[in-house]
Amino acid sequence: MASNKFEVTLEKIVSLCKRRGFVFPSAEIYSGLNGVYDFGPLGVTLKQNIKKLWLENMQKWPEDVVQLDGAILGAESVFKASGHIDNFIDPMVDCLNCKKRFRSDELDLDKPCPSCGIKNWTEVRQFNLMFKTEVGAMTGQGNFGYLRPETAQSIFINFKNVLSSTRVKIPFGIAQIGKAYRNEITPKQFLFRMREFEQMEMEFFCKGENADKFFDTWVERRSQFYKDLGLDQKKVRLRPHEKDELAHYSKHCIDVEYEFPFGFKELEGIANRTDYDLSQHIKHSKKDLSVFDTDKNESYVPHVIECSVGVERLFLTILFDAYREDEVEGESRTLLKLSPKIAPITAAILPLSKKLSENSKKIYEQLKFNGFKVQFDESGSIGKRYRRQDEIGTPVCLTYDFDSEKDQKVTVRNRDTLKQERISIDQIEKYLKDLLQK
Ligand code: ATP
Repeated sequence: MASNKFEVTLEKIVSLCKRRGFVFPSAEIYSGLNGVYDFGPLGVTLKQNIKKLWLENMQKWPEDVVQLDGAILGAESVFKASGHIDNFIDPMVDCLNCKKRFRSDELDLDKPCPSCGIKNWTEVRQFNLMFKTEVGAMTGQGNFGYLRPETAQSIFINFKNVLSSTRVKIPFGIAQIGKAYRNEITPKQFLFRMREFEQMEMEFFCKGENADKFFDTWVERRSQFYKDLGLDQKKVRLRPHEKDELAHYSKHCIDVEYEFPFGFKELEGIANRTDYDLSQHIKHSKKDLSVFDTDKNESYVPHVIECSVGVERLFLTILFDAYREDEVEGESRTLLKLSPKIAPITAAILPLSKKLSENSKKIYEQLKFNGFKVQFDESGSIGKRYRRQDEIGTPVCLTYDFDSEKDQKVTVRNRDTLKQERISIDQIEKYLKDLLQK
């Protein structure tokens, strides 16, 4: 196996995702909807695996982290209180010549338009990123709702419900995985900046005096998560926000950044949001969201540490990180070096000849029945079938040949080392379970 130099580009990832059924541009047959994507069979599984690992990681610590699945459609009053109606804005500018629209903070307005080369800008305007919609049959009555721009607000407004309906005690967290919508001015870089995406957010409620300690704890835990995921640590960095970059409610914020081909960019934000969110909702709803401290005999408003990452942004990061090109026996191959825990397919069952289909298919069906993510592929040369599996990141292929009929063994071929070993058919499940534990 010769490992040759290769460059991973956004174009290569986009093309692989489409070719192999990970991600499709939404409404493609109608020329698409910008910033919106549909996930194909392998993409769905990859996303599910990412979400499962995230949740397991959130819930393995000594403190309780419970789940919430809040509504996507949010009341205007919620986003008034949260500040999104007034402050969730990006500055926007249009080119009067080519009519292209840009975020003005990403441009030098003293220079001509990067699209048409002519300098003829409109005034900078503030653009709210929330999708607004009318609720109910009576239009024009001013009953507005918003597609949530983050999952966090439904956690804050349900904080008291969770506290009073479960046995959790402060400090504890509420985790939520769900859709969020932002009418980004310039959706770009494929899954990096979308208009409809999923977030994995955890809001951790604690006493104010413990907030700094828990902030450090969560930064440490989240960094370890990305190490355990196998991301190339040379490409991961923690970037504390500068004072002038901090949101007004945030005391401390650290971004976990990944080095994409288009530079180091935010993957996850970890923030000490103080008691801002609950205080805002107390002020606007006039409901008491404070907690009684029996030691001090007084009420207090909990502080919040937030960990927030986009499912698709992590999906894209994982693909960039796993992408390889090399040469095997004079032929080039593309592979995704995905961890078995993340890979959409754990093993492919490949009969060497169509004559061996019947018995090898029984192995496949049994594995499938027992919950393993497996594929059966009998078309094309064995080399071609290996390449197909390499490209979607399948860690092992199990080849069933004529000897298998006699010795009841299959050949396991490893995606990364290309090493081959014979194992008994009745040992396959144990072999795959061990692989998934790694
Ligand atoms: P950015 O500066 O990249 O716009 P942000 O600081 O606005 O991000 P947050 O509001 O902190 O992002 O959102 C938390 C996480 O949600 C981000 O770290 C990112 O992983 C994800 N995310 C935010 N906006 C998008 C988007 N438009 N498309 C995909 N994922 C997103």
